Amino acid sequence: MPSNLISPLLWKSIGPRDPDSFTDFLFHHEQWHRELAKVTNTRFILMDDLKTNLFPHAQMHIDLAKATSVPQITDLLSYDLEDPASFVNFMTLNADDHQRFRTLTGL
Ligand SMILES: [Zn+2]
Repeated sequence: MPSNLISPLLWKSIGPRDPDSFTDFLFHHEQWHRELAKVTNTRFILMDDLKTNLFPHAQMHIDLAKATSVPQITDLLSYDLEDPASFVNFMTLNADDHQRFRTLTGL
C-alpha cells in the first residue's frame, strides 16, 4: 500500500540557513520515523532536540537496518547541525537512508 509520506529525497535540498524548511523537515521526518517503526516493529524515539542530540535518531536508523536485514550506514552521529557543511552532509545521508528504507518497506 503506497503511503502519503513525502519523498525523503526532497530533504537534500534544504539549506543550512533555512529554519522554516528545517522545521517543516522535522515534522515530515518524525512522520517517517513513526511509520517506519510501525512497519518494522521497531521503537519510535522522540527527537525533540535533533539539532543538539543526534543519538536517539541514529539509534532508530540502526534499529531499522537490523530489522530490515541491511548494513547500517556509516554514521549519523558525528555531525554538527549548526555547522553548514556538516548540516548538508547529514541531510544527504539521512535522506538517502530514508529512501533506502522506503524501498525496503514499500512505504
Ligand atoms: Zn531519519
